[in-house]
Amino acid sequence: MQNHTRVEQLNPNHIPDMPIIGGNLALDFINTVEHWNMGPYKEYLAIVPDWVDWLKRQQLIDNNQKISGGEKELSLIRKQRNQLYSIVKNYLDNQSIHSSDLSLINQRLQDAYSNRLTVFENERFIYKWSYDPEKALSYLQPIFISLKSLLHKLPSKRLKACSECGWLFWDNTRSSTKKWCDMKFCGSRSKSREHYHRKKKNS
Ligand SMILES: [Zn+2]
Repeated sequence: MQNHTRVEQLNPNHIPDMPIIGGNLALDFINTVEHWNMGPYKEYLAIVPDWVDWLKRQQLIDNNQKISGGEKELSLIRKQRNQLYSIVKNYLDNQSIHSSDLSLINQRLQDAYSNRLTVFENERFIYKWSYDPEKALSYLQPIFISLKSLLHKLPSKRLKACSECGWLFWDNTRSSTKKWCDMKFCGSRSKSREHYHRKKKNS
């Protein structure tokens, strides 16, 4: 697994402003660390309210939802996120997938599916979650289900890591030629560096 020791804590209240670019819930969850590929790592889930803010950003909870859980739960959430990163990154790098990481997914999926009920509402059959909405860990369940559907779409050239910052994303563009998580952040940074090197070479 990625050595994740140099963690730079961010100020509280950064989640409402963080870019959400994964195109998939599980990838967005993995992207709650910035600069996976080179460090220094920026931890977006530094304190429990960050997790609550992130769930709101993902519309998994509304503004009034109370969430219980403390540092112990948050550190488990971060640990599982790092394992998910390890799976996806190893896949992208053609490295072997650790069986301990895969068994984590399978355990969590079993929990998730046992809490996903089919109900009949407004003349339609729909899925409903039966997990405890107040528990911080409950929300790992939809994340693991998203990850499973993503893994089962592989192989696909649409799963990528940004060549600048390492954030993971699902390239939904028609041509699937997207190189960076976002043109505004990494695309322009990369282009201005290329421009600088070109100018230096020609001078
Ligand atoms: Zn990027």
